Amino acid sequence: MSKIAFIGLGIMGGPMAGHLVRAGHEVTGYDVVQAGVDRLVAAGGTGAASVAEAVAEAEIVITMLPQDEHVEAVVFGADGGGDGGVLRHAKPGVLLIDFSTIRPETSIKVATAGRELGLRVLDAPVSGGEKGAVDAVLSIMVGGPREDFEAAKPIFEVVGKTFERVGDSGAGQYVKAANQLIVGGTYALVAEAIVLMEAAGVDAKAGLDVIAGGLAASRILEIKRDTMLARRFEPGFRIDLHHKDMGIASAAARSAGVSLPMTALVAQLIAAARAKGYGSLDHSALLKIVEDLSGR
Ligand code: NAD
Repeated sequence: MSKIAFIGLGIMGGPMAGHLVRAGHEVTGYDVVQAGVDRLVAAGGTGAASVAEAVAEAEIVITMLPQDEHVEAVVFGADGGGDGGVLRHAKPGVLLIDFSTIRPETSIKVATAGRELGLRVLDAPVSGGEKGAVDAVLSIMVGGPREDFEAAKPIFEVVGKTFERVGDSGAGQYVKAANQLIVGGTYALVAEAIVLMEAAGVDAKAGLDVIAGGLAASRILEIKRDTMLARRFEPGFRIDLHHKDMGIASAAARSAGVSLPMTALVAQLIAAARAKGYGSLDHSALLKIVEDLSGR
């Protein structure tokens, strides 16, 4: 069992940290929002008042933060100069697992800086949504050295079901970008299917039930069709975060020198959702944009 620092106890990090406590690890958590820390303490973990305090005794440091700037602030310190944060306060040899979805370039920067100080660093973005985190069945796409991946497996086994090493540092983020363009595109098409069926006056619920049994079956149809039909859009996964992810996917396409036209279209629909003020809603709220387009 390991001493774990867990930084970022939000929608995903909260339940993941709880599973690690229940698996017998000593988990010390930190979040800028105290409610997340309180939840961890209630689950049997220990609260910390800063990154420095959380990581001081840790053998494994885990981060689950919204965006690149949060990961950089936590890893390098708020001034970005490398004299605060995880890199300054973690012991050499510590395994740093970043579960956040960020740009591949940022993961490579973190890994390079960490290795210079003797840390072992993995980018390990996840898929499966809040439900996947709560049920501990996340898919985890891992970039970094093979031996570090092997060392992290006991952690992945607690919070996930499917995990693969997909290459060196940053590779996990490329796979996550690919994941997010599929998820965004699927939501857009499920939304269009709902708008079409409702406009035509057919029973959309029965329609989605039968679609979910055929070739168009998907995890999204399985777990989201009822809430979409009921127009219940509490997150889940916020439009703001998916907007961030489509930016990562677009930049990744650019640096890989490929054209992803569907991704570009879905990115604009998600941008429209955000511009209309739906950033805090679940990404299934793409339905509201598709409805708008048809004046519904
Ligand atoms: P969230 O906003 O619910 O949680 C992030 C937490 O980080 C918050 O509690 C926030 O207070 C905390 N935080 C921010 N800056 C901090 C700092 N400097 N120090 C300490 N804590 C800080 O977000 P989430 O939904 O849990 O997502 C986290 C990451 O996981 C994102 O990169 C997201 O894209 C990815 N992700 C989310 C889902 C999902 O369904 N929610 C699914 C897969 C991947």
